[in-house]
Amino acid sequence: MKAMVLRELGSVKSNPQPLSQERMPDPTPGEGEVLIRVLTCGVCHTELDEIEGRTPPPELPVVLGHQVVGVVEDVSQVKQVSQVKKGDRVGVAWIFSACGECEYCTSGQENLCPYFKATGRDANGGYAEYMTVPAGFVHPIPQLLSDSEAAPLLCAGAIGYRSLRLANIHDGQSLGLTGFGGSNHLVLKMARHMVPNTEIFVFSRNPEEQEFARSLGAVWAGDIDATSPRKLDAIIDTTPVWKPVVEALRNLDNGGRLVINAIRKEDVDKGYLLNLDYPTERWMQKEIKSVANVTRQDVREFLELAAEAGIRPETQEYALEDANHALLELRQGKIRGAKVLRVESLN
Ligand SMILES: [Zn+2]
Ligand SMILES: [Zn+2]
Repeated sequence: MKAMVLRELGSVKSNPQPLSQERMPDPTPGEGEVLIRVLTCGVCHTELDEIEGRTPPPELPVVLGHQVVGVVEDVSQVKQVSQVKKGDRVGVAWIFSACGECEYCTSGQENLCPYFKATGRDANGGYAEYMTVPAGFVHPIPQLLSDSEAAPLLCAGAIGYRSLRLANIHDGQSLGLTGFGGSNHLVLKMARHMVPNTEIFVFSRNPEEQEFARSLGAVWAGDIDATSPRKLDAIIDTTPVWKPVVEALRNLDNGGRLVINAIRKEDVDKGYLLNLDYPTERWMQKEIKSVANVTRQDVREFLELAAEAGIRPETQEYALEDANHALLELRQGKIRGAKVLRVESLN
């Protein structure tokens, strides 16, 4: 099969072509796994964190990609009666597997499992024509969603859904979104559906993204260090750096909650944390919570919600061979919506 393979970690700045296009043997499913023919795969900022070593794959080479839409090709290794059949269109998300037995897994928090395995980091993912995955970790894709629309919903959407629930706002309370890329533009759309009376304020350093946010219904959009016209009950941060965290805490209302939706933060501006002013930015019961991984339930609930509520990502398609180009654009902040690799079309 054709695959885009990561063989070596390093900064994308010094090596703008981190993935090599290769032919490799088609994977064979292990016990309990299914084989999937990949149709589309979303491109996520986490891939940059993997390539640059902030959340490094435990073994190289590896095939990245954790927002995979494909068709089930082989179920011969699945012994238990399963709902997955050959020919089903399914999705694979960041959660590749979890142990199923620990205190987290048995209490609905498999996202926190110490044995959590991530697709495209701890196991080969969807930047390839085929992949294998445990049968219990594929998700039916609602008919209403196209291959290309469904891909970004599997990570950007599902983790955005988890962040919005963790933001813990009631309808009518105010919500801030810091950074306006693949995930937060979907959070805006789901917030407008789930909490329709909530006013949304968007912080982005990019004027085009600010404009994009207003066009999707944000009542206000400004720069990362701007002061919002009112204090906000909750803010969701999807940026990779620290300045937005300090600035968000300043805009947060008393008792408000900042949810950081980032697997890792970069060290480039870590010194900005020294600007943190305790009386105005940390006191008054202001809370900080991070969001980690996703559960299968997050993914499935969100796919259903997206299909029903007409939540669709704005997407930009690239050929599989152009994965490096898509990643580089993401690195440079050239974002409008979500980037998707077209691996194979059904027709
Ligand atoms: Zn992701
Ligand atoms: Zn577990």
